[in-house]
Amino acid sequence: MEIPREVKFVINELKKAGFEAYIVGGCVRDFLRHVEPQDWDVATNAKPEEIGEIFLRSFINNKFGTVTILTDSENPRLKEIEITPYRIDEKYTDKRHPDKISWAKTIEEDLARRDFTINAMALMEIKNQKAKVKIIDLFGGQKDLEEKIIRAVGDPEKRFSEDALRMMRAVRFATILDFKIEEKTTQAIKKNSFWLQAISKERIRDEFLKIIMTDRAADGVELLRSLPLLKYIVPELGEGYGVSQNKHHIYDCYEHSILSLKYAAKRNFNKYVRLAALFHDIAKPRVKRGEGPDATFYGHEILGAKMTSRILNRLKFPKKEIEKIAKLVRYHLFYYNPGEVSEASVRRLVRQVGPENMEELLQVRMADRIGSGCPKAEPYKLRHLRYLIEKVSQDPISVKMLKVNGKAVMKILDIQPGPKIGNVLDILLSYVLEDPEKNEKGFLEKEVEKLARLSDEELKNLAQKAKKEREKIEIKRDEMTKKKYWVT
Ligand code: ATP
Ligand code: MG
Repeated sequence: MEIPREVKFVINELKKAGFEAYIVGGCVRDFLRHVEPQDWDVATNAKPEEIGEIFLRSFINNKFGTVTILTDSENPRLKEIEITPYRIDEKYTDKRHPDKISWAKTIEEDLARRDFTINAMALMEIKNQKAKVKIIDLFGGQKDLEEKIIRAVGDPEKRFSEDALRMMRAVRFATILDFKIEEKTTQAIKKNSFWLQAISKERIRDEFLKIIMTDRAADGVELLRSLPLLKYIVPELGEGYGVSQNKHHIYDCYEHSILSLKYAAKRNFNKYVRLAALFHDIAKPRVKRGEGPDATFYGHEILGAKMTSRILNRLKFPKKEIEKIAKLVRYHLFYYNPGEVSEASVRRLVRQVGPENMEELLQVRMADRIGSGCPKAEPYKLRHLRYLIEKVSQDPISVKMLKVNGKAVMKILDIQPGPKIGNVLDILLSYVLEDPEKNEKGFLEKEVEKLARLSDEELKNLAQKAKKEREKIEIKRDEMTKKKYWVT
């Protein structure tokens, strides 16, 4: 992999001005793994104001003195490059914010404040040499990268008590990279997991979401549970651990939730579906009645939706997202069988869930089913339901589409309500179905006047013909919708 020219430019400008500059943090880790980094970070011994003087298109964006440089790159990951002055974080009395940060003199000091060995390396390009890059690796990051290990820099207990969120970051990196958390680091998390409560819900939410959005989301949640961090994030999920279901299920409630999430991640479903898959049975332990093969869980979808709202509220999710995910949980049990469930029921379901959420509801259902150990997600049934959902969502073909209505017709013809008006509208509709551009008020009004010259009998015949044409179109439309979903 090459260092992008935008990054080289930033480093060279700093050096020309007499400063040191290194590529640091997660991008070094990704560079060494031959994966394109999310973003490129540079560390320097220049102070924020000095950086600002070198780069005109830049702004200081936080209290850590990070300066964002705007480039003209086409690549969204290179449009902004962050330069952070070397710093030391001093004493964390509250387990989350350094009491004071101060500038460090050397890159070594800066690397020592970073969280994990694989994130605490610096990279420098060397001109005119064969080994094009030099890596500063004080804590064995390259070895840990090779051996797939997440290891805290320095004393893990101290590092987690400085910033408790790092424990979740350890899980995130272990999950994304499929690495193991080293033993001492693991023990330190187990001992300090309690301190996650000192962290703001927003930071926890963001980190939790990042774990949920990885390919290995289910392993991530299980790791959170075992450490035990999950009980400070979503304690409700733990309630299902070891709670058996009934004769229809081989997995306990917790296992089933995790497996549903696993499928949602495998199919790369969005965050709403992943969270709904994880939470859809969250109320089961609380509503369980009886034991063994005949245990029941009546109303778990209703209580589950409420619990989901409460959990997501606590984690400060946006209101709209909470409503959506809660709906997916509320209706995940919908029953469908072609020929047995009426169009009216499907219409009601679409109204309750919202047409915009239907596809996601079907995805939650697939995740639920596969997560129960069923080999298939009932492809035909689901296709048939998709077809019906589209059918009931289509605008009906009716005279309501016309730009003139019955009232206007009565006024033009100067007549009272009666069958004649319906006949006129039916005929107008046949014109519009043939050529949608004819659905124009002026045109239609003129046509009404022309039709007025016909006898009642003639009008009736024309209207009947028009209706037959419309039925043909409706049948054709239905056939096409069926074809689209491969159903009969
Ligand atoms: P990503 O691929 O998600 O961007 P990253 O490793 O770049 O991963 P960032 O959150 O972007 O993670 O942080 C950049 C770097 O800053 C990290 O690699 C790490 O060196 C350091 N860092 C970030 N957060 C912390 C923290 N809470 N404690 C210590 N060091 C941190
Ligand atoms: Mg990063």
